[in-house]
Amino acid sequence: MRAAVFEGLGTPLGIRTVPDPAPLPEQVVLRVCRCGICGSDLHMSADPEAGYRPGVTPGHELAGEVVAVGSAVSRLRVGDRVTAMAVLGCGRCAACAAGDPFGCPVFQADPSACGLWGGFGQYTVVPERHCVVLPEVLSMADGALVEPLACSLHGVRRARLQPGARVLVLGAGSVGLGAVFWARRLGAGRIAVAARSHRGEELAMKLGATAFLAHETDRAAQAHAALGGPPDVVLECVGRPGMINEAMMLARLRGTVVVLGMCTGPDVAIPVIGLMKELELRFAVTYSVAEFEQVVDVLARGAPELRAMHTGTVGLDALPQAFEALRQPNDHCKLMVDPWA
Ligand SMILES: [Zn+2]
Ligand SMILES: [Zn+2]
Repeated sequence: MRAAVFEGLGTPLGIRTVPDPAPLPEQVVLRVCRCGICGSDLHMSADPEAGYRPGVTPGHELAGEVVAVGSAVSRLRVGDRVTAMAVLGCGRCAACAAGDPFGCPVFQADPSACGLWGGFGQYTVVPERHCVVLPEVLSMADGALVEPLACSLHGVRRARLQPGARVLVLGAGSVGLGAVFWARRLGAGRIAVAARSHRGEELAMKLGATAFLAHETDRAAQAHAALGGPPDVVLECVGRPGMINEAMMLARLRGTVVVLGMCTGPDVAIPVIGLMKELELRFAVTYSVAEFEQVVDVLARGAPELRAMHTGTVGLDALPQAFEALRQPNDHCKLMVDPWA
């Protein structure tokens, strides 16, 4: 099969012919139909500490068709259309039994060995228990949106929104825009999005934002005006140094900051800012099985505005260049790979 391979820091992905995968007893082989490119793929292919190991095929936001099953697979059949959770737990501990693979001690002991990769290849293997069957009404592109939307849902749920809450979302990438959608659905009042350009504005408003702030000067006053007061909740969805401190400065007294942005470098925040407001600072990453299934359910029942997040598709040959281009400012919300195009 053909696959994109991470070849090392500072080197574009390579397109290689590699052996077809074979399933272990509890795994299925998927023919990958769509795989989204995630901000974490960009981080992990550029970070010397928390990065991919050379030889890995990245890609975890995938949807595909089951083409082979391992000997212990009981639920899935060849021909099933599925998407898959990207955090692989052991399947036997209390956390896994509770639908919380992120809390699994095996995953926590070595997260980089327990993630799902392989979506930028024509086939990949996934444990059966991590697959969720796609309802017929969902396309493969819809299926590839489930994973990133589940991350946003988890982040918004970690904020424990009160009905009518004033919400400020920092960042208008796919994580931030997904957070807008869920904040709207989970009962927020006014929702403002702050970003460095107007690029995400149309989509943010479509997904439920009530204001879009694209100027970095005097953001606190802008947010106050747009929300009718300082934000009860600030969702940090940028992942750049300085953003956590900015989120803390913008939140109201005893407000909540939830960090979803993935910043892999050192950052400085001034604790007294949080102290003098008695802020709650929380972090959110990945999702529970229930949250993942909730996204499938919501997509299946409609939510056409979410499809607008999918802004383009590339084949493997165009992927290395398209992947590098995403490191610069660009107009994509979610670019997907079709490894068969
Ligand atoms: Zn992702
Ligand atoms: Zn486990």
